[in-house]
Amino acid sequence: MGKPYLAEVPTTALRTPPTMLHLNEALALEVGLNVEQLASTQGIDVLSGNAPWPGYTSKASVYCGHQFGVFVPQLGDGRALLIAEVRKASQYRQLQLKGAGPTPYSRHADGRAVLRSSTREYLASEAMHALGIPTTRALSLTASADPVFRETTETAAIVCRVSESFMRFGHTEFFAYTNQLDALRNLLTWHIEQHHPEIDLGDTDASFQNGLLEWLNVVVARTAHMVAKWQAVGFCHGVMNTDNMSLLGLTIDYGPYGFVDGFDIDHICNHSDHQGRYSYRNQPRIAHWNLYALAQAVSTLLPDGKETLQGLLDGFADVFHEQHSSLFAHKLGLLIEQGETVDTLIENTLKFMHEHTLDFTRFFRSISALNPSASVEQNFAAWQQSPFFTLSLGEEAQVEGAKIWLGQWLAVAGKSTVPLADWRNQLDRTNPAFVLRNHLLQKAIEQAEHGNFAEVNRLFIALSDPYQVDSMPPEFMAEPPDWAKSLVLSCSS
Ligand code: AMP
Ligand code: MG
Ligand code: MG
Repeated sequence: MGKPYLAEVPTTALRTPPTMLHLNEALALEVGLNVEQLASTQGIDVLSGNAPWPGYTSKASVYCGHQFGVFVPQLGDGRALLIAEVRKASQYRQLQLKGAGPTPYSRHADGRAVLRSSTREYLASEAMHALGIPTTRALSLTASADPVFRETTETAAIVCRVSESFMRFGHTEFFAYTNQLDALRNLLTWHIEQHHPEIDLGDTDASFQNGLLEWLNVVVARTAHMVAKWQAVGFCHGVMNTDNMSLLGLTIDYGPYGFVDGFDIDHICNHSDHQGRYSYRNQPRIAHWNLYALAQAVSTLLPDGKETLQGLLDGFADVFHEQHSSLFAHKLGLLIEQGETVDTLIENTLKFMHEHTLDFTRFFRSISALNPSASVEQNFAAWQQSPFFTLSLGEEAQVEGAKIWLGQWLAVAGKSTVPLADWRNQLDRTNPAFVLRNHLLQKAIEQAEHGNFAEVNRLFIALSDPYQVDSMPPEFMAEPPDWAKSLVLSCSS
C-alpha cells in the first residue's frame, strides 16, 4: 500500500540567499518543531528549499481537475513540494513548500511564487484559522532577491504550508480518468485509513465500497460546513476548481481571494472570473458541483447504481442549510438557530445589506450595540453610538430600511432571556472586528516589496485575534478608502 500519487523531486536552490520574513512560532510549537532550529541559517535553507529536510526526499503529486468547469487532464503540484512528514503525539502533518522550483507538473511554468502572492497566502490561511475556518496553515514565509517574471519583474518567496493532508478532489479525478483503478483504490485506502480511522474498510469488495460511501458522506458534510463558514465571514475563494478542493474540507490554495467589504451578493473577487462562476452567491452551488465531480471519479470503484450516490450528494443541501442558518443566527444574536422565521430574517438581512452595499464585517460587528429588549427607536439611537456603525444617516432610504430591518430583527431576537452583557460578549466573540481586507494587504505588500515588513507583522498580530478591539489599530477596523475599489486580483502568480 503506498502513495502512488507522489513522485520524488528535489527542490531548486535560490541563487540569492534566502531570508526569513515571518515564522509562525505558535504553529511550530503546535506541530512539535523547534523554533530556534527553524530560524537558524540551516532552518531557513530547509524552509526555502535550499536544503533538504534531513532524511527526507521531497515529493510532488499529480492530479487533474475541472478548472472553471472545464476538465483539464493533467495538473499537479507544479510548484509545491512535500518536504517533510511530522508527528506530534498522534497528530500527523505534512509540510509543503509552495514556490520551491519546478516539478514534472509545472506545465512549462517556473515553479516559483512571488512575494506578493506568497504574503497573501501566508496571512490568509492564518487569518482563516483564527476565524475558526478549516484551512491549511502556514509555518513560514521566506524570500530571496531572485527575480521572478510575471507581468512585471517581481521577486521570489516561499510559503511553508502545513496540513494533515494536501489531497484534493483532483487527485481522485486523475486516477479515475487515466483508468488506474488499482492505484485509485490504494490511494483512497491509504487516505481513509490515515485520516478517518473510524471508517472500517474491511477486507472484502463490499465492505470497501460501503466504507467509501461512508467516507464520501463525510467529505460532503465537511465541504458544506467549510463553505457555510466562508459565507458567514464574507470570504470568497476566487478559484474553486476541483483541484483546489481539499478532501479534508480545508480551505486550500489562496490566490485571488477576498473578504467582501461593501456587501454585494454577486461579488466576484477574481478578475479572471468573467462569468462570476465563483461569486459569493455561487460558492455553495459550486462546492456542490465539485462534489459531483469527486463522486463521479470515486464511482469508478463502486458498483453501478447511481441512486445511492445521488442521495448522498443531495445531502449537501441540508447540511449546508443547517450550518448556514445556525452560523447566521449566532451572528445575529438569536437564541434559536433554525426554522422559517430565522431563515426569513437571514434572507432579509442579506437583502438589506446588499441593497445598501453595507460593509459586511462592520455591519455584523455593530449588532452587539443593539438591545433585544428595547424599541426600534431606542435601538436606532444606540446603534449610532457603535464604532462599527455602518449606515449613512444622510440617505433616507437607508435609514428607513434600517428601521424596517430593526423591527424584523426585534421580532425574532426580542425573546432573549440572556443577560445583556453576556449576550453582547457572545456576539463580540462571534463577529470579528477585523478581517484581512485586500486594501490592507495591498499596503503591507507594497511595503514588503521595499524591504519593510512592519505592516506584515502588524497584520499577523491583528489576524491572530480578530475579535478583540483593545489593541486593534483603528484603520484595520475601518471601511476601505475609495482607492481600494479599483484593486484588481487575478489568478495564479
Ligand atoms: P493554481 O491556479 O495556482 O491552482 O494552479 C494550477 C496549476 O498550475 C497547478 O497544477 C499548479 O501547481 C500549477 N502552477 C501554477 N503556477 C505555477 C508556477 N508558477 N510554476 C509551476 N506550476 C504552476
Ligand atoms: Mg491550485
Ligand atoms: Mg494557486
